Amino acid sequence: MDKKLIQLARTDFESYLVSIRELTENILRPNEYRLTHKDGVPEDLTDQLRKHGLFAMTLPEEYGGLGLNTEQQARLQIEITRASCVYRARFSTTVGLVCQGILQHATKDQKNDYLCRLASGEMTGAFALTEEAAGSDAAGVTTSAKLDGNTYVLNGAKRYISNANIADLFVVMARTGRPHKMTAGITAFLVEKNTPGMTIAPIDMKMGQDGAPTAEINFTDCRVPASSIVGGREGIGFKVAMAGINTARLHVACTSVGQAERLTEEALNYAVKRRQFDQSISEFQSVQNMLADCRAETLAAKSMILRTAEGISGPPSKAQRADISCCKYFATEMVGRVADRAVQILGGAGYLANHDVERLYRDVRLLRLFEGTSQIHQGIIAKHMIEEEATSNNKELTCQPSAAATKMGSPPSD
Ligand SMILES: Cc1cc2nc3c(=O)[nH]c(=O)nc-3n(C[C@H](O)[C@H](O)[C@H](O)COP(=O)(O)OP(=O)(O)OC[C@H]3O[C@@H](n4cnc5c(N)ncnc54)[C@H](O)[C@@H]3O)c2cc1C
Repeated sequence: MDKKLIQLARTDFESYLVSIRELTENILRPNEYRLTHKDGVPEDLTDQLRKHGLFAMTLPEEYGGLGLNTEQQARLQIEITRASCVYRARFSTTVGLVCQGILQHATKDQKNDYLCRLASGEMTGAFALTEEAAGSDAAGVTTSAKLDGNTYVLNGAKRYISNANIADLFVVMARTGRPHKMTAGITAFLVEKNTPGMTIAPIDMKMGQDGAPTAEINFTDCRVPASSIVGGREGIGFKVAMAGINTARLHVACTSVGQAERLTEEALNYAVKRRQFDQSISEFQSVQNMLADCRAETLAAKSMILRTAEGISGPPSKAQRADISCCKYFATEMVGRVADRAVQILGGAGYLANHDVERLYRDVRLLRLFEGTSQIHQGIIAKHMIEEEATSNNKELTCQPSAAATKMGSPPSD
């Protein structure tokens, strides 16, 4: 970490954002061609992310963090994701799901052991929840953790786990005894890399985001000390997961805005240069309509995200979580439409693999799928609306929200 940049982020955020824009424009974007399935984000570029404090963006200063508020984090995410969102993927799981779960629920010793090393980027985190039977239905976790003396024995398989092949620390959700499908039976464990019994499969081939690896993780009689339970208590794993998920969801919404700004810029640059029928295609009304729709929808998403972020200082309330779902749902769907228009404006060039727009189009497709699919967020939003309606009229619910929306939207104690 560069001490001057870290100090700048803490004391003069506007100037720090300028330095992030310079990083994005001068270093990250020109090096996007080096982000590959085989090489991931090369170490010299990861060092740039570390130096600029990006692994520290969600943590308070006492753990080496930048001490930013939610709105500042949102603005930083938007700025950095004007470059490939693969760069963001290099630090996003660490700063969102992993750091937030530890910060909000871990013991003092666990925080002291890990948070400073995660904030500096010395350690990379992975978050292992998803399994074959536990996707949107996250409570379907079947990976088991059985107590044997002073250790827990983990057995099961996780899939689609970001950073699996490069992570130093894994937050693993496993069932410690309560019946299947009950969130209270899920416990979060801190598992360090190379723990015997934990094996990482070869990294997955994906549609996009080359350089942001995911892989399956298998646990076969993997022993971890009882002291590795996050917060030292069984049964709070779902809360640990939700702590990070809300931050992650807002940051995915921000990523959609950054990528939409980039796509619009690419489409506009192309449109003003490309000539057909003896004129720039940007002079055609139908092309202008597409450009205008890109700008208007991006601004709408950015405005709703910044307004939502402005009001959040601490764990979000129920209403704020519903607003985060609105942001995640709207912004990720929006960037899909923007990417589609950008390809259309580029014509054949937008379909060829040597243009950034083709790659960005594939990259942003993921944003609608993880951190809750669009359909899951629609469920959360509607559930909140129905509850609000019942509360304001002081009447019984006539329409029960779906079980999935209930699980994905709220920690078990709500
Ligand atoms: C690149 C990538 C990285 C990932 N990284 C991680 C990671 O680091 N850690 C981790 O734990 N997981 C990770 N995931 C997993 C991701 O969170 C899940 O893929 C996601 O939650 C969806 O689960 P699923 O794929 O099983 O889809 P499913 O849940 O099977 O959904 C399939 C379809 O059914 C719909 N559906 C399901 N339930 C409902 C419902 N109740 N109402 C309406 N529609 C519904 C969905 O919207 C979707 O359209 C990653 C996934 C990908 C692709």
